[in-house]
Amino acid sequence: MSKDATAVSHKLLVQGGFIRQLSSGRYSMLPLGYKVSKKIEQVIREEVEKTGAQELIVPTLHPIELWQQANRDKKFGSAMMRVKDRNESEFTLGATAEVVMLDLVKQFNVSYKDLPINIYQFSQKFRDEARPTGGLLRTREFVMKDGYSFHKDEEDLKITYQKYWDAYLAIAKKLDINTFPVESDSGAIGGSVSHEFMVEADVGEDTVAICSCGYAANLEKVKFVKGNININDNLKPLQEVDAVRGTTMEDGVKLHGLPLNLQIKDVMYVDENGRYILAIIRGDYMVNETKLKNLVLSNELRHATEEEIREILHSEPGFISPVNIRKNADKKVELIIATDDSLRTVKNCYGGSNKKNIDMLNINIDRDYQPDFEGDIAAANEGDICFTCQKQKLHLIKAVEFGNIFNIGYVYSDPMEGNFIDQDNLPKKMYMGSYGIGIGRALAIIVETHNDDKGIIWPKSVTPYQVHLIGLELTDETTNKSATSLYEKLKSSGIDVLFDDRTDSSAGEKFAVADLLGIPIRIVVSKRSLSQNGFEYKLRTEKESEVLNTNQLIKKILTFYK
Ligand SMILES: [Zn+2]
Repeated sequence: MSKDATAVSHKLLVQGGFIRQLSSGRYSMLPLGYKVSKKIEQVIREEVEKTGAQELIVPTLHPIELWQQANRDKKFGSAMMRVKDRNESEFTLGATAEVVMLDLVKQFNVSYKDLPINIYQFSQKFRDEARPTGGLLRTREFVMKDGYSFHKDEEDLKITYQKYWDAYLAIAKKLDINTFPVESDSGAIGGSVSHEFMVEADVGEDTVAICSCGYAANLEKVKFVKGNININDNLKPLQEVDAVRGTTMEDGVKLHGLPLNLQIKDVMYVDENGRYILAIIRGDYMVNETKLKNLVLSNELRHATEEEIREILHSEPGFISPVNIRKNADKKVELIIATDDSLRTVKNCYGGSNKKNIDMLNINIDRDYQPDFEGDIAAANEGDICFTCQKQKLHLIKAVEFGNIFNIGYVYSDPMEGNFIDQDNLPKKMYMGSYGIGIGRALAIIVETHNDDKGIIWPKSVTPYQVHLIGLELTDETTNKSATSLYEKLKSSGIDVLFDDRTDSSAGEKFAVADLLGIPIRIVVSKRSLSQNGFEYKLRTEKESEVLNTNQLIKKILTFYK
């Protein structure tokens, strides 16, 4: 096990022999882990089919041209795995399958009568994550249930979207996972409205903002109130002042003796198309880069270097200002000013002047600079006021994503000409949705939320076996016979039994393994139990055991799993 096994699920799954790492972010599912995976798949299958979805499977290697048609190769960027075949044709190892599913549906020249189409698969997905972590929580290769729906319009999508929403809640309930949907950014999949089904967990890499009014959103989407600071003040004349100071926000506060929330924070980015993007925001907030990307429609952002700021934009690091920067910058570069709406809550701000050691006072939006894009690009903080109820404070919690549903719209059908023939005999674009659940991730979440200091405690629905049968002192012929006979009887009653018939392990060792593996029911056959005319029955969650005869046992087990 790697030294960075900090997630409980990672440790327990390796110790219990459920998984083994092949290379970073790639795990083999051993027989125990595979059994659990298959059960999770079955739970998902049963509920997803209730949405009207039909299961199929498409190839793992996708022709790169399909991804290029939809411009998705750029969106996925370096997370995409590329391979070439013997003819030098380029493919990508499927990270998600929107383009392939749309291409498939297109081949049937569908009409409005065929819609909606709702299809899904379980298949291996590949994402070249920079930092795979937490065992099965973030891997580079995993099985995913990915569903896709095709509609005549958004109204029709909403019906299927709601069915998937209900299905996900039903799946989570069966898996005994406590999940809550949050509004989220669609990320590389694309689209407008999306929801992630999150599970609160300390090991979580995502932060989610929740409010007691019921609102919940990913940090990349969360809306909060940016209170007015001095909105009724009159505009004062713009003024340049000497400012021999350092380059931090605090240096500005100290020098001018003015509050941080009147300072303008400037962050200069460069996107994948070489556009310079000056993000500006009220001094007490930070820029959320995903919100910024969505506002200015960039896929990737990096900070501009000091050289670029000086030589191309003719500004000065630490003294950047939206005022006049466009005038100063090289004419050959595209420069965009993206403004957070918090700058509407303040008047007479202060900040740099694009010149070293000179600041400006009384900077005002519209009068002194004009944004190209204006919107919410601020990162939420613990205690910010919820925008939905305008009253309660937002609470930030750590969470793991269990599943997601995307309202994709025309992101793929537009560039790929994914059309259907409508009632008026004219081609129209299909409206799409997509729906994912990672199986390994779900398995890890179950373990994260179902364990104690001794090991895993599986929910009934996905336990690898129904009963963990332990035989003690099996070198004794009578005991051995009784144990083997019980094993056969349980099996012939349709009960799935793991039989620990090892003769080289102590009772203590066998009990510890049973606790680690976490099968809900443990049965012990020993000289002692036989002297009481039965077998010891104990639940993984309880301390006390009872002695039952064969018929009582079978009845009890079948009732437990009913
Ligand atoms: Zn609220």
